[in-house]
Amino acid sequence: MGFSTEQIHAGVEPDPVTGAILTPIHQSTTYVQESVDRYLEKGYSYSRSANPTVRALEHKLAKLERGADCCNFSTGMAAINATMVALLNAGDHAVVSDVAYGGTYRLCTKVFSRFGVEFTFADTANPDAVAKSIKKNTRLILTETPANPTMKLSDIAAISKIASEHRIPHAVDNTFLTPYYQRPLELGADLSIHSTTKYLDGHNATVGGAVVSATDDLDQQIRFVQNATGNIMSPMVAWLTLQGCKTLSVRMDAQSASAMRIARMLDDHPKVAQVCYPGLESFSQHALAKRQASGFGAMLWFEVKGGVAAGKRLMDALELWSLAENLGSVESLVTHPVTMTHADVDKAERKRVGITDGLVRLSTGLEDVEDLIADLEQALERV
Ligand SMILES: *Cc1c(COP(=O)(O)O)cnc(C)c1O
Repeated sequence: MGFSTEQIHAGVEPDPVTGAILTPIHQSTTYVQESVDRYLEKGYSYSRSANPTVRALEHKLAKLERGADCCNFSTGMAAINATMVALLNAGDHAVVSDVAYGGTYRLCTKVFSRFGVEFTFADTANPDAVAKSIKKNTRLILTETPANPTMKLSDIAAISKIASEHRIPHAVDNTFLTPYYQRPLELGADLSIHSTTKYLDGHNATVGGAVVSATDDLDQQIRFVQNATGNIMSPMVAWLTLQGCKTLSVRMDAQSASAMRIARMLDDHPKVAQVCYPGLESFSQHALAKRQASGFGAMLWFEVKGGVAAGKRLMDALELWSLAENLGSVESLVTHPVTMTHADVDKAERKRVGITDGLVRLSTGLEDVEDLIADLEQALERV
């Protein structure tokens, strides 16, 4: 069946009691058991361990990512945290993308480093650099592609091959493209991680996370940590995300088509110094973008001539684009990573990975593209 059919129907069926077409919000702490001998017969005991509404979302995401199973979390960071807790012990080493999301970098350097886990932040755009970073005690390779906000890509198939030769699990943060455009497990990765806060919800309504595992064994390891540490998604959040997923392909296609038009407009604009969008022929990894994904997504960044001051004036002059953190929703958002999402990454590290002070990140929403372009043009006139 096609992706759009699956995004609507996978994991859910009409409620057997009432026929309600939408999965009910099972707002219940506990589940009554038939008898001591028939404990867990219906699959549920206590909502930290499993909840039917959350389980419906997990089944849907597992199907869309072509995984064995999925575990949902309270946030994207909780999903990344659980993956690292499940796979790493004190004394282990992990190779992490040098352009990973600022929160991932902070989790590695400020939290896991306290527990004796060692990291190498490698240039994962270059598979050889990943191979060279592997040590005897490497137990995880974590990439993010496209990376937030640099848009740098990692070759999922090439890195998965290196990882499997060393029997190291490869986890891919697939937040930017979603399973509609990119399916890491089909390319050989072991885990696909999401901040469901972004495109899967798509409506700026929730924060949530997901880890889809290629095997039941990996899923069991993650699920064990989840139950042990108590980091779960709530039924209400799962329900909203279930509804968001049903329009994922339509939103992604429309938002990506708009992003392409906006990227071309900015590329031609005399006040713009640089535009970075994987769909542009000038994008350095354009061939890889076409090879490993079926769409380019709706995220891009650009730099205005005149540096940081001009960039700030531009962001303040925008009216339809909201100045806010988050991405992937129907509302178009503009972000200044250096002062907002990546403020915790130190200046030298930011410079090294290409997060310049003047970088303006756009998350293209679902408004009429003519309105989005007109707003950018009037703001550019005023810088
Ligand atoms: C937002 C984001 C995260 C963190 O997700 P939260 O839901 O905010 O915790 C992780 N990875 C990427 C690529 C993100 O964009």
